[in-house]
Amino acid sequence: MSDDETRRLLLAARPALAACALLCAACTSIGRHDADYRETLDFGARADVPFCVLAEEGIEEAYAYELLDAWNAKEGPLFELYVRPVSFGRLPRAGFTYTSILEGVEQVPPGPGCEKVIYFVGRHLGDALWQTVTLVASVFVPLPVPEVYGAVNGERTHGFVVAEIAGPDDLIHELVSGRKGVTVHELYHFFGCGHSWWSMHDCYQAILGFKQAR
Ligand SMILES: [Zn+2]
Repeated sequence: MSDDETRRLLLAARPALAACALLCAACTSIGRHDADYRETLDFGARADVPFCVLAEEGIEEAYAYELLDAWNAKEGPLFELYVRPVSFGRLPRAGFTYTSILEGVEQVPPGPGCEKVIYFVGRHLGDALWQTVTLVASVFVPLPVPEVYGAVNGERTHGFVVAEIAGPDDLIHELVSGRKGVTVHELYHFFGCGHSWWSMHDCYQAILGFKQAR
């Protein structure tokens, strides 16, 4: 195959690579809902989980609450499990990578009345440049570049969500999941769920366990 043919093939594969980059990102699907199975489970009385909310400068308090409300509007009634923001504060982003951002927020102990800490971070010029460079590079090297839009620590006490859009990958992702989708995804992690390509049965059981343990 000539270089030109290879180039054309890789360009043609670009949408598939972009889709794979999304699917292969560290945080993918929690799973597919199964209403029939879920309705056999008794999630008990309503629980409101108090969150300390932090945000990088530039992310408005009202917007952070709007993102959290995405859970309360759709997922909350499914499990009688709601997010209750109890405080709002500012925190500068600790670094460029998702691990450094997560380590930064983990340094903040839950304040009075909080059970968990969620941090909304913005996008920086470096993020947009990184996305642009990897987008161009992926035309030449057909490797999906994972992009992390949020993460929760192993103890499920601290996590973050990227709440702004900067680069080309963000725009594609916004069409697929969006900021509210990422927030809901990370809240599932906060409440005990892992990733699954298909079933949410394990996730439902995890939420049951989370509620019973409180
Ligand atoms: Zn995830």
